[in-house]
Parts: sequence; structure tokens; C-alpha cells
Amino acid sequence: MAKIFCIANQKGGVGKTTTTVNLAAGLAQVGQRVLVVDLDPQGNATMGSGIDKRKLELSVYDVLLESASIAEAKTRNDKVGYDVLGANRELAGAEVELVELERRERRLKTALAAANDDYDFVLIDCPPSLSMLTLNGLCSAHGVVVPMQCEYFALEGLSDLVNTIKQVHANLNPDLEIIGLLRVMFDPRITLQQQVSEQLKAHFGDKVFDTVIPRNVRLAEAPSYGLPGVVFDPASKGAQSFVEFAREMVRRLGKK
Ligand code: ADP
Ligand code: MG
Repeated sequence: MAKIFCIANQKGGVGKTTTTVNLAAGLAQVGQRVLVVDLDPQGNATMGSGIDKRKLELSVYDVLLESASIAEAKTRNDKVGYDVLGANRELAGAEVELVELERRERRLKTALAAANDDYDFVLIDCPPSLSMLTLNGLCSAHGVVVPMQCEYFALEGLSDLVNTIKQVHANLNPDLEIIGLLRVMFDPRITLQQQVSEQLKAHFGDKVFDTVIPRNVRLAEAPSYGLPGVVFDPASKGAQSFVEFAREMVRRLGKK
């Protein structure tokens, strides 16, 4: 049975997509069968996995509108080692079209149920909003991974997300929980980041992942080569920390 996780944070530019593609590549490297679902019309996870979003014949849009299955719409670039259900600008239209439809927030869940045996992990890259798209992600998932930068306003933004997850848990998806908070783009030389990191641990205890992802330019360069950093430069600090994070995820889930 596939473990399904949303990578979510209502803020943009906090490292959701970077976390999604690098965790996927890290999990693939430790032998897991992985599907990345790109739920952001910007299609960054698609491009960052070596799939040209402008050339998609079928995408997550077709799956949400139930005109294709995941098995039909998935793509793969062999260099990255995992499957991708891609997205492009067409997906922005789904937001409006879904409102009219039945089971509008459960479309992705239904589609993923049919692909359950094909994967060990499904990672859903969410857009930076609480839209019908994000809701489809949260309704499908067993848990949420929240990447965050240790900055002053980070904790404030987090309470909105935690409330949203509580609401979805109460009303739509009793399986949903926060798996953990992942500190990303971390720079230990910055005192404020250390302070926020300590506050996070005080508030959230073992919901804060042990692994910390450093700020690392190789992770930022990799998307322009259509590769996750883990594949682009495996020796870099950023890549190594994401592989470590993949191991931590497998370890944590093994405990349950
Ligand atoms: P989101 O999906 O939340 O909008 P991204 O993953 O696209 O965020 O990250 C935003 C920007 O920060 C991108 O340019 C990305 O390459 C860069 N970035 C993300 N994580 C790191 C990191 N650990 N070190 C350096 N740059 C990073
Ligand atoms: Mg993104």
C-alpha cells in the first residue's frame, strides 16, 4: 500500500517543490517506488523532474476531471528514477471546473486508490494556497510534510496551516496528520534561525524532523538542468541531507 504525503505550506517560495523532488529522488535511491503528483499549475515539480510541462499529452488535470487514469497520465524521466503526474497552466482551469462537479475534493483520492499497488510512496507538491487543488491533496493524504524556513514570521504562518489541517482532519479526512516540520534553507550562522529552530522544537517536539536541509546553491541550480539536486550533484551538502531525510522518513514510518 502506498504511503501518501502532501508537501504543503500556504507560503510560496519556502521550499515545497525542492523538498518534493529531492525527497522523491532520495526515496527512489533507497529502493522505493515513488510517484510525484504536481498539483501546482506552475508545473515546477514537473520541470524539476525532467519532464517538459509544455509537451504533456495527459496531466493531473485530466486525472482530476476523470478523463484519464494515473497509469495512463504518468510520465517518467529515467534519470530521476520516479514517476511524475505532471501539471501545467491548464490545471489553473480545473479549480473553476471542479467547483461544479460531484465529489470535487475527492477526485485525486479516487484516482490514487487505483494506483495504490504501483507505489510505496506518493508525494503531492501543493500550490501555495488553500484552494480546491490543495484540498484534493489533503483529502488524499495520510500525512503532511511542512517545509519551512526558520524566520521570524514562520511560526505565525504555521498556525494557519495547522488549523487548516485540523479542519480537514475533522471534516474530510480522519487519516490526515502532520508527519513533521522540515527545516529548510537553514544557515546555522544566523542566530535568528537557531532561535526559531529552538522555538519550533519547544512547540512541536518530535514533529520536527531531525534532518535539517542547509541552504545550498546546488539545490537551487539543479532545476535548470531538469534534475533534482540529489541526482544533479549527489556529493553536495544539500543532496546528502535530502538522502538522509529520505532515510529518516522510511525509519519514522517503519516505527508505526
Ligand atoms: P515553493 O515550491 O515552496 O514555492 P521552491 O522549492 O520552489 O519553493 O523554492 C523556492 C526557491 O528557493 C527556488 O529558487 C529554490 O531553488 C530555492 N531553494 C529551495 N531550497 C533551497 C536550499 N535548501 N538551498 C538553496 N536554495 C533553495
Ligand atoms: Mg512550488
